[in-house]
This record gives sequence, structure tokens and C-alpha cells, in this order.
Amino acid sequence: MRSDLSGIPDYVPGKSEEDIKKTYGLERVVKLASNENPYGCTPKALEVLRQFSKLNSYPPKDPEELRERIAGYVGFDPEMVFISSGLDGVLECAFKLLVEPGDEVCFALPTFPYYSILSKIYRARENKTERDSEFRMVNYSKKAKLTVICSPNNPTGNVENPDFVKEIVENVNGYVFIDEAYAEFTEKNLTELVEYENVMVGRTFSKAFGLAGIRLGYAVMHPDMRKALMKVNPPFPVSSLAVKAGIAALEDLEWMRKTVRMIKRDREWLFRKLKNIARPFKSEANFLYVETEMDGKSIVEKLEKKGVIVRALSGFEGARENAFRVSVGKREENEAFIKALEDVVCLQ
Ligand SMILES: *Cc1c(COP(=O)(O)O)cnc(C)c1O
Repeated sequence: MRSDLSGIPDYVPGKSEEDIKKTYGLERVVKLASNENPYGCTPKALEVLRQFSKLNSYPPKDPEELRERIAGYVGFDPEMVFISSGLDGVLECAFKLLVEPGDEVCFALPTFPYYSILSKIYRARENKTERDSEFRMVNYSKKAKLTVICSPNNPTGNVENPDFVKEIVENVNGYVFIDEAYAEFTEKNLTELVEYENVMVGRTFSKAFGLAGIRLGYAVMHPDMRKALMKVNPPFPVSSLAVKAGIAALEDLEWMRKTVRMIKRDREWLFRKLKNIARPFKSEANFLYVETEMDGKSIVEKLEKKGVIVRALSGFEGARENAFRVSVGKREENEAFIKALEDVVCLQ
């Protein structure tokens, strides 16, 4: 095994309902830890999956119909759409194509931990910059081969200043990957920056579309960039089921938009409630970053005992000790979370 990889921490996903039910002997557990869509995907996608039987055939290498649908959805040419297995898969392809050992990869902390993991796997030199008091990026590095910008940022929920991102794009010598996993939850998107040849904008079906289990992601970029990326895409990056589900989801945008409206409404409700008991930050995504007077880890544990799973930020380098992240759930789940947090904070 490569000795230089032993230092990579295990990727810690949000704990599962089953884990917590077993550990604490609970019957009802509310999971608000992985930024999933609590309403699920469109029933039309489920129906298509039920009907699908051609599992003995390989999927298309580069699913054209899905690519055209995505192109229509984002408003760019199909030749600019690159599809892979989740946005995670897209990100890995970008690293594979661009990052040689010793190249500089730049991103601001705290952010999505996979950028750092990929940097280590591809032997990059990590340049981890700081953020201002509202978690906006304030630095970049001209020399960076790859700059990764997460907007809205996971775990802090804020979007980046478009003028500053444009400055980065115009001044770096390398490439810029803009991770818009949460694009559907904000009007403040940076997608139009793909008009620059060094920019890729990544999106996913995992969050707003409620299809995290199907593993489908994509990025928009210059057609030449897409062609180059296809060389490092695995032979069959997405399953036939993912292709079908993705097309069905894009045929029923109204479902996604309806659930996003509810989530945004409840995000504001949660923010107002949280303001009475903790320090939530304004969010443009489907989760909230919250600071308290207590250690984040102990809050998370106490909430779990009460049957509410939120996300500790120990895996997020640069996050404060007293912070956690909570996904916006259904109304009754949010209420259960607030009630549990009130208990935990008051009993302290
Ligand atoms: C969830 C998430 C991803 C991963 O998306 P998948 O399509 O499920 O791989 C990528 N980036 C950010 C910022 C995320 O929060």
C-alpha cells in the first residue's frame, strides 16, 4: 500500500438511523445529517426504476439523452455537459486529469472534506486558505493548478461573492472547479462563469433531486475540457438505472421545485427558532451551520441520545469546535430537532 495515504482520515458520513436506533434502543430516530431531500425523488423516477429490467446490458458510455436533458435544464450546450458517478466521481475525474504530483490545489476551510482527500490521493500540495467572519473566501493563489470553490459552501451554507470568484477565474494560471451541489436552493449561482475556458461547474442529483442513492452527478464546462475529461472517466461511470432516474427527474422538475420551496421555507423557520437557543448562520443551502456555547461533539452525542442525528464537524478541517450542521427536514422532524436541542442546551 502507498505509505503516503496512511494519513488520510476515513471519510465519515453522517450516522445512519439504524446505528442510532441500535445504540440507544430508540424506536423513532430523525436523521438530519446528510443533506438529503426529506421528501425523496419524484414518484415518476421510482416508477421508471420499477419498470426497468434490462440489467444484463451495459449502460451507454456517455448517455446522450440524459446529457441533452441536463443541457436543457442548465441552459448550456450538450457538448458542455460531463456526466459521472455522483459529483464525487466528477471531482475525482477533474483531479485525475489536472493534478500532477506536487501541483498546488487551493481551497478555503472549512469546506467539503473530499477536496483534501483527493489532493492527498493525487499527491497535490494543498493550499488551504482562511475565510472571513461570514465564511466567504478572501484569498486565492495564482499558481494553483486547481482551485476548488464550494458555493453554497458545505458546511457553512454561504455563497461566494461573484465578483471575487470572477477575479479568481481571471487571474489564476490554472483551473477552477465550482462545486454547486446545492445550486437549486439559492438564486445566487455562479454557473455562468463556465463561459471561461478554465472553469468547470459541478452539480448533482443527490441533494435537491432526492436521488443520492443513485449516484449521478455532472459538470458544465468548455467542450474541449469535456472531451479531455472523458478520457479519464471510467468506462461505464453511471448505471442504466441512474440514467433512467435522471431523465425522469428532469421530466418532472415541478416535483423538485415544490420540495425545494418547502425546504427553503422551513430553513427560514429553523433559522428563526435556532436564533433563540444558539447561533445559526444564514444559509443558501438545505442545511444550517450552527454554533453553540457547548462543544459540538458533545451536543451531537446528546442529540443522538434523544433520537436526533445531526452532523458533527470533526471531519471538517477548520470548522470551529462549538459548531454542528443540521439538514432541513420535514416540518415535524425540524420540530423534534428544536425540542431536543432546547432540552440539551437548557440542561447544560
Ligand atoms: C453532497 C456533496 C457532493 C457529493 O455529491 P454526490 O453527487 O452525491 O457525489 C459534492 N460536493 C458537495 C459540496 C456536497 O455537499
